[in-house]
Amino acid sequence: MLVSVRRRELVLDAPLRTAWGELRSRTLVEVEIEGADGAIGRGEAAPLPPYDGVSVEECVEGVEAIAAILRRDGDRVAGSELLEACRSACDLPQALAAFDLALWDRAGRRAGQPVATLLADDVLGRVAVNATIGALDRAGAASAAARAAQAGFDCVKLKVGTGDDAGRVAAVRAAAGPAMALRLDANGAWTVEQAVRTIEVLAPAGLELVEEPVHGVAEMREVRERVPVRVALDETAAEPGALTASVADAVCLKISRSGGIAALLAQASLVRATGADVYLASTYDGPLGIAAAVHAAAALRVDLPCGLATLDAFADEPVPAALAVRDGAIALPGGPGLGL
Ligand SMILES: [Mg+2]
Repeated sequence: MLVSVRRRELVLDAPLRTAWGELRSRTLVEVEIEGADGAIGRGEAAPLPPYDGVSVEECVEGVEAIAAILRRDGDRVAGSELLEACRSACDLPQALAAFDLALWDRAGRRAGQPVATLLADDVLGRVAVNATIGALDRAGAASAAARAAQAGFDCVKLKVGTGDDAGRVAAVRAAAGPAMALRLDANGAWTVEQAVRTIEVLAPAGLELVEEPVHGVAEMREVRERVPVRVALDETAAEPGALTASVADAVCLKISRSGGIAALLAQASLVRATGADVYLASTYDGPLGIAAAVHAAAALRVDLPCGLATLDAFADEPVPAALAVRDGAIALPGGPGLGL
């Protein structure tokens, strides 16, 4: 099997400030595989060092280790055996995701079908997505919320734990109107006491849920028991046992952190077995990662809005037509494979 690997740097339109730091650009590691039959598949690794602690170097090393396996065995070994060999070469989820995506893309192209329809029979035709508001000031947050409402979004997510949370929440609610679902993401910035106090103060604004108010399974359990708002795991979902700990009302899953589409579907089953909801989000993935998440969300019939409307954050990278956001949703790409 032929395998090529290349790095790609995408610059953000405006720096994104969150509780874990500031992001100005991100590096993706893209892979392309081509089998002896000529069918190709493409995937990407999207490590985000300040968020997941995985450096680009570490990721490239993992991608190359897996590439060596595919170059040697990709045309003679198939399916789960091949993925097992990849996993034994490198267990970094971000690197595994790149090849999981490429193998699904290739399988879809060979079958002439969108990946989602290889994953499930009854898939969604469109995946609801939220707008993300990163503005640190009330006026900026309000105008972003008004733009989101005008563009047809039904849900906005506001980064909190970054200062003036109450002022910005009020500004967003006022600008977006009463019907807009308002999701907060603290990226684990608060202690349990801060989270309880802050959420109590903000709850009257009408909150859909609060993502990662605190880090840690025990801390999440305590916050959930004490606040009148739904809470969701994001970063804490990576902790061992977190997915089945029943400490949150919902869990945010990510293609990159899960290790690809197949692993994300397995994680979603675990979460749903506990009665919690799942939704998906990107870690400012490129188009391939977003497409993979849309296929996975469509196959899972996720109805909570997903954090996948992030491609327009990149300055020089036009959003591919197949992934355009319309009326607060991304339609399932209809082409074969990932549809890009
Ligand atoms: Mg988050």
